[in-house]
Parts: sequence; C-alpha cells; structure tokens
Amino acid sequence: MLRAARFIVIAVILLGIAWWISTLPGSVTAHSGSYTVTASTPVALLILAVIALLLTIMFRVIGGIRRAPGGLSAWQGGRRKNLGEIAINRGLTALAAGDAKGAEAEAGRARKLLGETPLVLLLTAEAARLNGKHDQADAAFKKLTTHKDMAFLGHRGLGHHAAATGDHDAARKHALAAEDAYPGSSWARAERLAAALKQQDWRSALGLTQAPAEVAAIATAAANSTQDRSNALRYAKQAVKADPSLVPATVAYARSLSLAGKARAAKKALLNGWTATPHPMIAAAYLENIPDPIERVQAASQLAAAKPGHPESEILLAETSLAAKLTGEARRHAQAATAAGLTDKRPYAVLTALGDAPVDAPAPKWTCQSCHAEHTGWHATCPNCGKAGSLVWKSASTALVPA
Ligand SMILES: [Zn+2]
Repeated sequence: MLRAARFIVIAVILLGIAWWISTLPGSVTAHSGSYTVTASTPVALLILAVIALLLTIMFRVIGGIRRAPGGLSAWQGGRRKNLGEIAINRGLTALAAGDAKGAEAEAGRARKLLGETPLVLLLTAEAARLNGKHDQADAAFKKLTTHKDMAFLGHRGLGHHAAATGDHDAARKHALAAEDAYPGSSWARAERLAAALKQQDWRSALGLTQAPAEVAAIATAAANSTQDRSNALRYAKQAVKADPSLVPATVAYARSLSLAGKARAAKKALLNGWTATPHPMIAAAYLENIPDPIERVQAASQLAAAKPGHPESEILLAETSLAAKLTGEARRHAQAATAAGLTDKRPYAVLTALGDAPVDAPAPKWTCQSCHAEHTGWHATCPNCGKAGSLVWKSASTALVPA
C-alpha cells in the first residue's frame, strides 16, 4: 500500500517535470566552426541527459576495468593459500608416515606458496631432520624460536638435536628457553633433568624431580660425590628418607655418619638397613675396616642376626666362614642359602671351594627397570638409558646349568 502510494507520487513528480520541460520556451543553439545546430530547449535538455547517462556508464566500465587486476591478484592469493595448506597437510602426513623425501618435497612446495610461515618452518625443520640434514633443520628451528607462539617448538627441536649430539650445555639452555616459552611444560622439565643427569650436576637434578626413586638415587650420588661432610650427610639423609629400601642410600648414609665421627650411629644405620633389605653392599660397608678373618665372622654374625635365616645372611656367613677357614660352617651356611632360594653363583662358589663339583650359575646383577640393561655395580643413572633410580638388584635366577 505504502509502496504503491510512493510509486504514484514519484510518477506524478516525473510527469510534472516532463510537462514543465516540454513547455519551456525558446531554443538552444550550438556553434562549432562553420556548423550551427539549433534545438528547442526540451530537446537540448534531453540530449544533455543522454550524454550524462553515457558518461556515467563509461566511468563505471573504466572503474571496473581498473579494479579488475586487484580482484585477480586477490583470487590468485587465495588460490596460493589453499595450495600451500594442501602442501602442509600432505607434508605432515608424509612426516608421520616416515616418508622423508615426500615430506621434504611438500615442505619446499609450501615454502614457495606461503613463504616462511611458522607452520612451513616447522614442516621444513622436521622434514630436514628426517632426511638427516641437521644444519637445515637447526636453521629452520632457529627461525621458529623468533615466533612468539611457536618458540617452544623451535627450542624443543634445537634441544633434541643438542642432546642427541651430546651437547648437554646447549640442551639445557634450550630446555630452559622452552620452559620460558611454555611455562609448566613437563617435556622441558624432563629434558632439563636429563641434561643435568648427563652432566652429573646432582644438585640441579634434585631440584627437577620429586619421584621418590629418582630423588633417592640422585641424592645418593650427590652424597657420594661431595667432599663436604655436612653436605654429604644432608644428601644421604634425603636419599634414605625418599627410599628407605635403596641399599646404596643406606650405605652412603652410614659412610657420611662415620666420616662425621658418628661410628655408632653408622653401625646402627647399617644394621637397620640389613633388617629392611639385606644386601652384599651393606655387608661390605659393615666389614670394611675389619681385616682379621675371625673378627669378620663375628661382625657378620652380628649383621646376620638382624635378619636371621635370610639367604643374604646365610651367604654372608658362608663367605666369611670360608675366608676364616671354618669349612664346616661355610658348607652349612652355603647349603642353607641355596635351600632358602639363593640360586646365583655365590653359594656354589663357596661349595666349589670346599671341593664340590662346579655349578654354572649367574652372578647377581643390577637390572634397569626402564631398558632392562644389566650392570654389575650400582649407578644413580642407568649407564645404558640414562634414567635415574631405575636399577634394581636381581640376585636369584631360574636358569641353573650344572657344569
Ligand atoms: Zn636403563
């Protein structure tokens, strides 16, 4: 209704203007050289309107043509972006599939299409790494560290390579920078710990873990490596507190006590340790300064009394008795050890020394719970995989082959 009314009003106005123009009196004359054109005023106005309309159309067309190149380049840009994203997607898939050459080719394509965007840099770096081109990879990761949101990934890439090549100083720096870029990152913390352990920087390592087995092992190493008596005692206490069953921690604690002049406390710590976990390392520490074989048997009896009948108590008595030439006692305790389930080579070595036929049995070992490597001595970190507090004592074996 309203639209119809508006249409009628506009139509009436236009008709009015047309009627008014048609009634205008006079004429318009134009001269050009020897030509003279004369038209009535309404016709001249009509010609003027037509010229204005033609000019408007012409400017529109020219403007459209001028804008066209911008439109074309925008279209091309969008197309490049799409193709670049496709190259990144394919490159990431190739990386995951372990296709080094494919990943490298897609990374190159993405770089040409998109330039060095953070995602292109990441793909370039990982592809180069997979191809063994570590200089290229490091260069791309380094550029990545300058991007605010991707700096963590840059430092992670550089840190990985530094650790793999044994440059633990650089690995620590990058792990620290990665932690700055992404506070609370568990990866960065684990890397810092691994690098500190590799450098045997026990003090720093202790600040980077709270796992009891790791703390006990690292604190034991710290106690054993320091020359400072009070620090040694402090670290050894920390180790025993973190894991009272860790034998090397007990031994380190007793040693630091006797270095501090507390011989009785040291002896008590070893006796308590034997009650908790009988082990040859505790026996060795307990008998350390006793050269006389008979006195050693007496000391061994004191220790064994803290856990009577235990296979380790029996083998300790067998070995000290044999050294003191108490052959009857030695045989009795060696047999008691095997009867109590000790099947490693120690009781058989005693019996062989007493004239029995040799038995081929395995030696007791420290075994890494992480990588399963076997070691004859205890280490705070596994010499094979580097994990802290992963070594456990394995004294018995099922494999017994008579010689
Ligand atoms: Zn290991």
